Amino acid sequence: MSDERYKARQSKIKEKVDEKVAAAQIEKGLLLVITGNGKGKSTSGFGMVARATGHGQKCGVAQFIKGNWECGERNLLANNGVDFHVMATGFTWDTQDKTADTDAAQLVWQECKKMLSDPAYDVILLDELTYMVTYDYIALDEVVEALNNRPAEQSVIITGRAAHRTLVELADTVSEVRSIKHAFESGVKARKGIDW
Ligand code: ATP
Ligand code: MG
Repeated sequence: MSDERYKARQSKIKEKVDEKVAAAQIEKGLLLVITGNGKGKSTSGFGMVARATGHGQKCGVAQFIKGNWECGERNLLANNGVDFHVMATGFTWDTQDKTADTDAAQLVWQECKKMLSDPAYDVILLDELTYMVTYDYIALDEVVEALNNRPAEQSVIITGRAAHRTLVELADTVSEVRSIKHAFESGVKARKGIDW
């Protein structure tokens, strides 16, 4: 491509982007859903928490299901002023105790509700919340109500597979991480620093 043509093409692209940037005038806290079967949902959520923390914003994280598992992000971010609420008992995969799971989820959810009504929080990550709604450990209506009534400037990130349609509809930004392949399928062990 000639220099001339390259210049003309690039300036056309720039014009279009500038138009879109100028058209985006709304300032508000966002609801983001990161869903799908591929790897990268929680790490994306934690990436945004790290980004906001880097700007001096106040962040809170709730970890459902894998709460008490080792987690590099928690080690780092908790030391940098991020509040963590974890499902301390974890999930009773072995005992399949629905009451215990519900109680554990509800304990964390009460803390989430406090954060979701506190304008001090700029960004809140609700990691693996989708499963809590799917399995009815936390009522969808309650989640929707808390999200709708949150402070206008507060952003919330929800991660987990198979996000409920209502959460997808409510969200401003929804990304689906699609798995093309995953090392685990070839027998590779989960790896510190990459998987947790
Ligand atoms: P990450 O925390 O790495 O961003 P994730 O939040 O997208 O992953 P989860 O479903 O929460 O995915 O599962 C977390 C763990 O399971 C990680 O160790 C991750 O590498 C692994 N994992 C994620 N997707 C897959 C997959 N498609 N097949 C096998 N293991 C997966
Ligand atoms: Mg995850």
